[in-house]
Amino acid sequence: MTWNPVLFVMIDGLRPDVRAAATLPALDGLIARGASTLRAQSTMPSITLPCHMTIFHSVPPARHGITSNNWQPMARPLPGLIEQAKAHDKRSIAIYNWEPLRDLSRPEILEFAWCRNAIYQADGDDILTDAVLQYLPNLQPDFAFIYLGTVDTAGHYYGWMSDGYLRQAERVDGCLARILAALPPSAHVLVHADHGGHDRSHGTDMPEDMTIPWVVAGPRIKQGHVITRAVSLLDTAPTLAALLDMPPHKEWEGTAVTEAFVQVTPET
Ligand SMILES: [Zn+2]
Repeated sequence: MTWNPVLFVMIDGLRPDVRAAATLPALDGLIARGASTLRAQSTMPSITLPCHMTIFHSVPPARHGITSNNWQPMARPLPGLIEQAKAHDKRSIAIYNWEPLRDLSRPEILEFAWCRNAIYQADGDDILTDAVLQYLPNLQPDFAFIYLGTVDTAGHYYGWMSDGYLRQAERVDGCLARILAALPPSAHVLVHADHGGHDRSHGTDMPEDMTIPWVVAGPRIKQGHVITRAVSLLDTAPTLAALLDMPPHKEWEGTAVTEAFVQVTPET
């Protein structure tokens, strides 16, 4: 059987204007062969764990109830992307280097998880990429969540758009290049950030914190297309569900970015 993976690659804290200030050949290449918007929107509060709960469950923080980086059980639980994948016999894995992301899905849903809490070291994403290259081709999952956390750390340490932040973004673009090179041509890849940042922080509704790049590519995606519709974190799970040939969960509030698709997948 051929392997047709769907990857979601998160680059935490990557602002879209980094592209103009740094050299990012892997991200630029993905934009050239895919569909993208540099004006996608985070959700408030623009903080990593609330944003990721929104990404995976397609509801705003007011609905899932996680409003800080301290995880707690959802106020009104609903199935997320990985539960939906499991319900449709899809195999999912998660490879990440910020430990609080361990609860993005419920127990017994993931086939494999790898975590080394390594975002506080400059080579934390290089180490993570080594793990991706070690495990992804062997496990051949239907869906993989890959989280690269060091750009955000560099933002907090050096300041967003500072030289140290931009150089870390270039380093992580090299990680993205290594990951993309390990994929079969049939793969679909969605790359985006959870939030941006300003000075040495984020979490506000300022455009610098809220505006993120959102890029998808693969055989079923238009090439070189600039997405014109509004895109937010809520739309990620429905879009990934469409790429995985499964319907969105009925409680999800976002919509698949079908504008990016060569042809709209009929609802199943
Ligand atoms: Zn942060």
